[in-house]
Amino acid sequence: MQTDTTAPSTRRIKELEVMVADVVVETPDTSTLVLFTGNDRLDYKAGHFLTIDPHQFEALDRFTAFLEHLKGKPEPPRAYSMCSAPHERYLAVTVKEERFVPNVTKYPPLLSPLLVKRTVRGMRLVVTGFTGPYTLPPDIASHTNHIVHVCAGSGSVPNLSILKFALAHHPALRHTFIYSNKTWDDVIFRETLAELAAQHPDKLSVIHSLTRETNEAVFGPSVRKGRVNEPLLGELIPQPPDCFVYLCGPGISKWDREAAREAGAEPQPKFIETVLASLRHIGVPDSRIKRESYG
Ligand SMILES: Cc1cc2nc3c(=O)[nH]c(=O)nc-3n(C[C@H](O)[C@H](O)[C@H](O)COP(=O)(O)OP(=O)(O)OC[C@H]3O[C@@H](n4cnc5c(N)ncnc54)[C@H](O)[C@@H]3O)c2cc1C
Repeated sequence: MQTDTTAPSTRRIKELEVMVADVVVETPDTSTLVLFTGNDRLDYKAGHFLTIDPHQFEALDRFTAFLEHLKGKPEPPRAYSMCSAPHERYLAVTVKEERFVPNVTKYPPLLSPLLVKRTVRGMRLVVTGFTGPYTLPPDIASHTNHIVHVCAGSGSVPNLSILKFALAHHPALRHTFIYSNKTWDDVIFRETLAELAAQHPDKLSVIHSLTRETNEAVFGPSVRKGRVNEPLLGELIPQPPDCFVYLCGPGISKWDREAAREAGAEPQPKFIETVLASLRHIGVPDSRIKRESYG
């Protein structure tokens, strides 16, 4: 069921009552929620996100009220990118559970643990969507023939949607998918990416970079050790001025900025900031880098 909640000028944003058709466990802390939306036509673009309001979950009532009391403000809806592509039958989002780390994170996470660990088939949810600037321009193929995806953790979610859409609708584009995770078992969409690469050997190359993997057997030409850094980007992007980069992952959050300001320090760069600096250094123009920060 879709209900218009906005003025006619922004009719794309709708409240949608959906049913969880399936829960796919991707990794120990990440699940894909496949959402059944009835017969409504879904008007979204690859790379868009929807939002989920934590207030709709009775199981979170006390926790939400307590966090709102501590923070002195209402808990906002959380954004989740679609991993599905618009031409696919179901809508799907993939959620990575945040953790509370004493002395590092200020509060325990509210919504992601419930979505990952306590969501079951048949559950009903209200989602609001669809929006976001992290999309391909319709004329992308006239600007480049090489899309470079650079992602970390759940940053792969919108990029998978963009990749599937582009493989289906922009046959002239080839893709390099550079994906950073801590370990091999943390890699979300591992099989899906391998299948897509096998189906499109001339159009897609997937390179993993693992920062904390201890099993030497997983490493090889397409599974590298360490962070996504300048030498790796230089090797995988032969013509930096001509490609388009879609960069998604953890970035400096407003909480990090506040904490740094209180400590009289500069916030430490995260994945987005470090990769951005390397991309600029190897010569990718800013105008050819799209980024989405999950900070
Ligand atoms: C455009 C966009 C798309 C996204 N897509 C995805 C996706 O596809 N998959 C995915 O898993 N995630 C995605 N995210 C992240 C997601 O929206 C949530 O931020 C994430 O799930 C955490 O939500 P939570 O309720 O579990 O944690 P939260 O309760 O939001 O807490 C997260 C962190 O923020 C800190 N924090 C919260 N409030 C405060 C405060 N007032 N002061 C200081 N620190 C605070 C907490 O201490 C904690 O460390 C996306 C984010 C954006 C912006």
